[in-house]
Amino acid sequence: MEHILCVYCGDFFDSSPRHKNQTACKKVTCQRAKKAGWQRHKMKTDADYRFNQKLSQRQWIEANPAYWEQYRKRNPVKVERNRILQVVRNRRARSLQRDEKVDPLLIAKMDTSESDNFEVLGQFWMVPVIAKMAALKVNLLKIPVHYP
Ligand SMILES: [Zn+2]
Repeated sequence: MEHILCVYCGDFFDSSPRHKNQTACKKVTCQRAKKAGWQRHKMKTDADYRFNQKLSQRQWIEANPAYWEQYRKRNPVKVERNRILQVVRNRRARSLQRDEKVDPLLIAKMDTSESDNFEVLGQFWMVPVIAKMAALKVNLLKIPVHYP
């Protein structure tokens, strides 16, 4: 029996001789994380699986029409969190649509000197969790070593 590191919790576990290439221990949380990862992968790569999942979800929600209304009543904190995150998703989608229309060559200072060449590391949204404030868009730039 071999000791294997669980990729989900980081604990060692004893491998099973019947299961090759084990990555998760038998804790419920690790098994769920593994299954969720498999489903995410399957949804991205398998069109038939994706179609069947959508169909199944649609049938289930038709059989349980009050589910989401009851869920929102039971979980007001999650509803508020989702509302904030949806604002961020909407802004990101609008921003992407805007960026597609802008010709990058029309942006000023495209071929400036090397010392002035900031590398964009990414764009992030700072979303306030406690106070009610608007989300703030932040651009992270790598400043060149020789920048004055
Ligand atoms: Zn584990």
